[in-house]
Amino acid sequence: MRLSRYFLPVLKENPAEAQIVSHRYMLRAGMIKQQQAGIYSWLPLGYRVLRRIEAIVHEEQERAGHIPLLMPTLQPADLWRESGRYDDYGQEMLRIRDRQDREMLYGPTNEEMITDIFRAHVSSYRDLPLTLYHIQWKFRDEMRPRFGVMRGREFLMKDGYNFDVTKEDALHAYNRHMVSYLRTYERMGLTAIPMRADSGPIGGDDTHEFLVLASTGESEVFYDDAVTQLKLGDRKVDYDDRDQVAAVCREFTTLYARTDETHKQELFDAIPEDRRKVGRGIEVGQIFYFGTKYSEPMGATVQTADGRAVPVHMGSHGIGVSRLLGAIIEASHDDKGIIWPEGVTPFHCGIVNLKQGDAEADAACEAIHAGMAALGLEALYDDRDERAGGKFATMDLIGLPWRITVGPRGLKNGVVELTSRRSDESVELPPEQAVARVAAIYAGH
Ligand code: ATP
Ligand code: MG
Repeated sequence: MRLSRYFLPVLKENPAEAQIVSHRYMLRAGMIKQQQAGIYSWLPLGYRVLRRIEAIVHEEQERAGHIPLLMPTLQPADLWRESGRYDDYGQEMLRIRDRQDREMLYGPTNEEMITDIFRAHVSSYRDLPLTLYHIQWKFRDEMRPRFGVMRGREFLMKDGYNFDVTKEDALHAYNRHMVSYLRTYERMGLTAIPMRADSGPIGGDDTHEFLVLASTGESEVFYDDAVTQLKLGDRKVDYDDRDQVAAVCREFTTLYARTDETHKQELFDAIPEDRRKVGRGIEVGQIFYFGTKYSEPMGATVQTADGRAVPVHMGSHGIGVSRLLGAIIEASHDDKGIIWPEGVTPFHCGIVNLKQGDAEADAACEAIHAGMAALGLEALYDDRDERAGGKFATMDLIGLPWRITVGPRGLKNGVVELTSRRSDESVELPPEQAVARVAAIYAGH
């Protein structure tokens, strides 16, 4: 992509309304535009990252055997009356009437609708286990929308729902979600720690929130520092192997890690003092087992092998897809701008032409651009007639992890410069080798 033909409305000034760094950089890098409180347009650069995050979420859900579908944003109020939540949900729910005066709502979540789909089409234990999910816009009329996409009113969420015959089966689905989420966040360059969460009036232990540590996080967290060292890495997990999946979950949930809602001081005090940490975190996901809470009132039953009709055991599992952009930036930036992890970067590499209009430099940039495309890599080529300083500042702000700088002086010696945004280290290489190096870096992503 040539920058001269792209749409990247970078802001020079720090927007006054942005209180935290991710919001500030998303506005300055031309990623989002606020349209109303908590409602954003996704400009091309932001939309690219959003799509990459969505793609990772889809890949990891499908790897775990979960099946994508798409439900609408608007839902009928009557469905929510069946579960009793239409009245309970309160002011966060956006309620709408159509021209026939039918009551509708903009979905804040989809338990009722997915249960309705299930009961219409599934009636036998033979069709289970089943986990359906979608990535769809939600609306919650938050009292205090703030921090940009972190706490929006309209936001993108992955929400998945498992249907199982027994509690045991449903807990395996719960564990599958935990492992698939760990892999999802790691691929985005994040350490997201599963923390025991408060299950509210339903009771039971079976809910965890995933928190990314950040001083700007809204949750207070208490944890054993050793938990931050745990990595899934590229180990193979067989999602049908219950024991293996459960063992991974144990590994990641045994060390103490809780939010203030479930914090127990005496358990915390038992951690060796040098590993006891109190901090803040951003909730980027939550998994939940809730049994027959919806299936019972809504009549979602299956016939068991011995002919009984039983309400299915369910759980719901969410990832804050749009919030993740903010969380990633909070976790990965410096005072010049964003530093995208390779897994989610909007472009794989930037190309900076130090002397636009110089025939040799222009040709070298074109060749690098084309060489990248031939290898399936997307480069953002800054071909504007601007000073080098301005080009570097833009590249640093938008945070592409790799940059190739091309200028007449280097080309005389047959080299260009490949620079890491994270370490700021550069190497000089012949242009083809620079392209090959970038390709090798991304081969693992
Ligand atoms: P919170 O406690 O932050 O209000 P929640 O627990 O109500 O979130 P869930 O119902 O668990 O949210 O939704 C799943 C995920 O969706 C959350 O873990 C979070 O990452 C994301 N999310 C929830 N509310 C918002 C919001 N207003 N803006 C952006 N993302 C959100
Ligand atoms: Mg939650």
